[in-house]
Amino acid sequence: MREMYRFPALVLIGLLAASPGDFAGEQAAYPTKFSPALAARGDVRQALAYVDRQFDAQVEEWIRITEIPGTSGHEQERAEYVKAELVKLDFTPETDEIGNVWVRRKGTGGGPTVVFGAHMDTVHPLDTPLTVRRDADGTLHAPGIFDNTASVANQLQALRAMREAKIETKGDLIFLFTVQEEVGLKGMYHWIETHPGVAEMLVGVDGGLGSVSYGALGIYWSRMKFSAEGAHTNNSRGQPNPVRAAAQCITGIYTVPLPRADDPVPAIYNVGGMLSGGNVVNAIPREVTFTVDLRTVDAELLQQLDAAIVAKCEAAGTEHRVTFVREWIQKSEAGGRPEQLTEQRAHPIVQTAIDVLRFLDVTLPAGREAIPSGSTDANVGVVMKIPAISVGRSRGGDQHTLQEWADIASAKIGAQQLVLLAVALAEPSGS
Ligand SMILES: [Zn+2]
Repeated sequence: MREMYRFPALVLIGLLAASPGDFAGEQAAYPTKFSPALAARGDVRQALAYVDRQFDAQVEEWIRITEIPGTSGHEQERAEYVKAELVKLDFTPETDEIGNVWVRRKGTGGGPTVVFGAHMDTVHPLDTPLTVRRDADGTLHAPGIFDNTASVANQLQALRAMREAKIETKGDLIFLFTVQEEVGLKGMYHWIETHPGVAEMLVGVDGGLGSVSYGALGIYWSRMKFSAEGAHTNNSRGQPNPVRAAAQCITGIYTVPLPRADDPVPAIYNVGGMLSGGNVVNAIPREVTFTVDLRTVDAELLQQLDAAIVAKCEAAGTEHRVTFVREWIQKSEAGGRPEQLTEQRAHPIVQTAIDVLRFLDVTLPAGREAIPSGSTDANVGVVMKIPAISVGRSRGGDQHTLQEWADIASAKIGAQQLVLLAVALAEPSGS
């Protein structure tokens, strides 16, 4: 998953027009760990050349992994494939009880430990046909081809390239293949919590190739459940009715005010994306449920809106004498408003990633090279105050749908980007 809010163009133009000089000056001042000299090192060039030379194999592997089912919570077969490939590279892969797979590439000492994470799971049910179609226009088509199988293949290829070129870094590199990202970043939360203090920087590898994300969109998914005894229509007059409570609550939620649509820090909710209750015409149902999807990067606003929404449901439950319970479907915390993330933006991890992309001739949208939002495994780092970004994998689109597609050639840049980023962030040995 990687959805994020967009700055409305007008607001951005306004910001830029207000102080173009300041903006450019500020940008130039961001520290970076990348330099053209780093990319010109013999070992780095050799690794990039490996990715270039072996690109057909990378694409074949990408297709192969895509055709392995990987529904969240059912990543085992993909994990087995990944583990086997890591063993071929002389690693001893580690796993945990939730299903994450990772390897540690030891550094020579004196550099930071950098964790790269690509999620193995997809949103597609286990019985989804996964045969990949390759079109003449250089695209691949299959559910999960883009999100996030491309990153899984990219990470494997980056490891191969660094091995082939005998690249040594000062810091340790941990390449992590996570599970259950699509259902609340569960694999990454589990890994970070069971490895406290290990990750000094975190790179989520997910999303389209382009802007670098350094924030975290908070996403709360709730199921609102109203229940009562139920009653036959003939006896329904005056009886507690979960339908009326739910209806009142839904109407009530839509009176909870949101920031203006053009606010630079928007918030949004979708109520009743899933809604169910009852199974006969002639009775008050015993239970009615509906979902709420609430999103904003503003942590305080997220709490306020959530509390207001729950209050509407509680009031409706009381008024209609039915039981109300909120069940969590998933809860991903917010990273903060852009002005609360100035330190995060100033951390070299962000500018390094931007410079790597520019070096690889990726055109970044002007003024949106770095985005103070994000919706990937990197959110875990942002929320836990670990320097964290997410970077893309390839170009593509229609993720989370059966029409999902990806541009083949751009995945080469995706893999080369990981090599450059790994060496820059963990620092080349002997430099
Ligand atoms: Zn994803």
